[in-house]
Amino acid sequence: MVSSKRKAFDSEDMDERLGHQIPFNMEDCTSGSDSDYTKYWIDWFLGTKGNEYFCEVDEDYILDRFNLTGLNTEVQYYSQALDLITDNLDENLDEEMRDIVEKSARHLYGLIHARFIITTHGLTKMLEKFKKCDFGRCPRVLCHNHPLLPVALSDVPFSKSVKLFCCRCEDVYNPKSTRHASIDGAYFGCSFPHMLFQVYPQLVPPKSTDRYVPRIFGFKLHDVAKLHRYQDMIREESHARIMAGIEGLPSASIAAASSSTQQGLAKQKASEGNNATESGAMADVN
Ligand SMILES: [Zn+2]
Repeated sequence: MVSSKRKAFDSEDMDERLGHQIPFNMEDCTSGSDSDYTKYWIDWFLGTKGNEYFCEVDEDYILDRFNLTGLNTEVQYYSQALDLITDNLDENLDEEMRDIVEKSARHLYGLIHARFIITTHGLTKMLEKFKKCDFGRCPRVLCHNHPLLPVALSDVPFSKSVKLFCCRCEDVYNPKSTRHASIDGAYFGCSFPHMLFQVYPQLVPPKSTDRYVPRIFGFKLHDVAKLHRYQDMIREESHARIMAGIEGLPSASIAAASSSTQQGLAKQKASEGNNATESGAMADVN
């Protein structure tokens, strides 16, 4: 196979189109501009700019037809695409047909990739990339540059582009680069990062409790801040009342009293809730 014969994809043109908010579509998926000669199709694909999120799928995995069950109905020119991926494509194909097969091969590789990365060996390969921060870092300040993992919002091809999952804040983000933002999410799947953390639970970071508090001249003014302070006040009051109740009772009746205290507290909380909301709204500045 001679890759240099391949018509180079105009990547600048792609960036420009994406910049103009052209909706996500098949044409933009994992296209490359690299036309250097490489012996193996997979090496060429992985070396192409924009395909950095992909790992190398083991040849044994691709050659085991059981792993590819059902993909023949999802990919046009399936057998030629598979031949191209495994470097067995007939050299005598005309240029136009080769381009069509090329596009199918990229799609097929993506779909195989999604299956491979949730296998034991696939997870190991993606873990190495995660450790090297190949997928970037969380943009949220309070996540302190935690590395990200690719994830899909849908397993259906051509529906949603790939997103990046942060296991610290448990949220998803758009990739920074337009090349990465145009990769089909189905090439990674919805389950991948969660499967990785199932297999490597030691990688799950402690839950981030840091919360950004909006302030003006040092004062908390935001409605959410008011609510948090109100919740803290209620909690402290309840605790104080329970402790006072326990201290004032003989030890034998503590157990019986505690259940009625809980009911009493609920009633009191309901009636005080309204007053506290009013006074809380008045005294929102410390
Ligand atoms: Zn984060």
